Amino acid sequence: MTTLIKKSDAATAVLSLRATFDSGVTKRREWRENQLGALRNMIVENESVLEAALFSDLGKSATEAQLTEIGIVIGEITNALKNLGEWLSRERVRVPLAMMPARASIVSEPLGVALVIAPWNYPLMLALAPVVGALAAGNCVLLKPSELSPATSAALAALIPVYLDTRAVHVIEGAAKETGWLLEQRFDHIFYTGNGRVGRIVAAAAAVNLTPVTLELGGKSPLYIDDSVDLEAAAQRIVWAKFLNAGQTCVAPDYILVSASIQAALEAHFVAAIASLFGAEPEKSPDYGRIVNGAHYDRLVEYLSDGRVVADGRCNPDTRFIPPTILADVERRAPIMAEEIFGPVLPMITVEGIDDAIAFILTLDKPLALYVFSDDAAVRKAFLERTSSGAIDFNTAVMHLSVPELPFGGVGASGMGSYLGKGSFDTFSHRKAIFSKPLRPETLRLIFPPYTEGKKKF
Ligand code: NAD
Repeated sequence: MTTLIKKSDAATAVLSLRATFDSGVTKRREWRENQLGALRNMIVENESVLEAALFSDLGKSATEAQLTEIGIVIGEITNALKNLGEWLSRERVRVPLAMMPARASIVSEPLGVALVIAPWNYPLMLALAPVVGALAAGNCVLLKPSELSPATSAALAALIPVYLDTRAVHVIEGAAKETGWLLEQRFDHIFYTGNGRVGRIVAAAAAVNLTPVTLELGGKSPLYIDDSVDLEAAAQRIVWAKFLNAGQTCVAPDYILVSASIQAALEAHFVAAIASLFGAEPEKSPDYGRIVNGAHYDRLVEYLSDGRVVADGRCNPDTRFIPPTILADVERRAPIMAEEIFGPVLPMITVEGIDDAIAFILTLDKPLALYVFSDDAAVRKAFLERTSSGAIDFNTAVMHLSVPELPFGGVGASGMGSYLGKGSFDTFSHRKAIFSKPLRPETLRLIFPPYTEGKKKF
């Protein structure tokens, strides 16, 4: 089943979603809970279909699909169902004495019709986690999966209409052209995950209607490591985080900043860690993914000559396999340092200590994540206070995503807005101020004209 559209379909789809929203059906708590439950059923009952789609798109193993995609969405749904009552309850706030008697409170109301534009690298999780927030908050949703993960896109387009309320949730497949048509429509929120170039296109389109946007972008996430930590244990964690999904992870460590002597010590630990996680021949490992398409494969292979290859292995263009690769002695101005790598190549750049490392980080855009492997409290404090990033992890990488109550999002060029947990509900809600004051007694007489001397002190 394909859900590709003609240009006129974009407007029709949004109008029909808007009519549903205006009918009020999506605002009912029961409807929201039903939809979240139905989404969970959709995933649970079709796990093998979804795992097969992720394998087809990215060579992703079923375990990795569970850990990094299916499990996260199920967790988000469970969390939303558990807390929805509390999230929907009115929050009372204090009224200044001079305004009494009166009552003030805040209520979260849905924004309306939300557009979710998803990327290909975690094509299930990054499509459905925002949808969970949008539905919990009582919105209608138009989901546009990525054309670069066609199997997952097709699975979502086929399954969502079977399980969810088709009046309120639409899936439209397509690429830049179709997304452009959608962006010409008026939405009440646009949630985009992907690269910053398209992020700017989305923001410009949203500005026409003053539509609020969440931009979940990427960038070069640095990792600093010193010898106050167990380098063998650190290497295992870094290798896991970097080579997950064959490096095609927005929060993957992009490059390592390290002193020359620690770089030398790390090399052997990295080789051992790669062998321990993916075996002597990662190409045969069922747990190691593939590059999404030929264009990205060609782009990544170019980087392999940008430094001294530490962990060797041959690439295979037929299967788009690039081995987990560590590059040492990489120059700060090497091509691999110009853009987010987004693949299984990890360059090490030598620095003269933390001031040099921080100064270098500050020359680049604010990253989505920053990783510090150090047990030295002064080093941790320096990175925490002197750098800015979407998140900072100490002695681990990527793992902040496993804590639903931590906001997930970037800052500066790595994005605006954040989500997951209650953050997703808040992203798709408006916090409406409510103020109510009885007409009698008329205390406001004190601020009505004529403005006598005595009223100046009110
Ligand atoms: P992509 O190519 O799948 O593009 C993302 C979406 O934008 C797709 O749905 C695509 O159809 C649409 N699109 C592409 N060109 C367009 C255009 N000209 N106009 C309108 N829409 C267009 O994915 P990508 O951008 O290659 O994703 C990788 C990037 O996303 C990396 O930079 C990565 O760091 C970032 N990312 C960020 C997060 C996060 O949560 N912050 C998560 C994953 C990926």
